[in-house]
Amino acid sequence: MLGNLRYMSERIGTWPPEVEPVTAPEPEDGPQITYAECRKCGTQIAGLDGRYSCGVCGWVNHHSEGHRPLPTAAEDPDMQNRLA
Ligand SMILES: [Zn+2]
Repeated sequence: MLGNLRYMSERIGTWPPEVEPVTAPEPEDGPQITYAECRKCGTQIAGLDGRYSCGVCGWVNHHSEGHRPLPTAAEDPDMQNRLA
């Protein structure tokens, strides 16, 4: 019993084990999540690169308001699954 307890405290002494440092993703890597208020109903909504669609009232902003150009159809990975 006592030996068992000592074994456990030794195990706890080595806790926590070495952990890999968590690296933050690159800010310029892929689309960024942005937040805004719906201009129709005022709900706080999240979008990608400044493009929003409100799930409450259905409002969407124009794609030209996005922070970066949209990918072309050729860059769409789903295009490869379509029949010509
Ligand atoms: Zn809305």
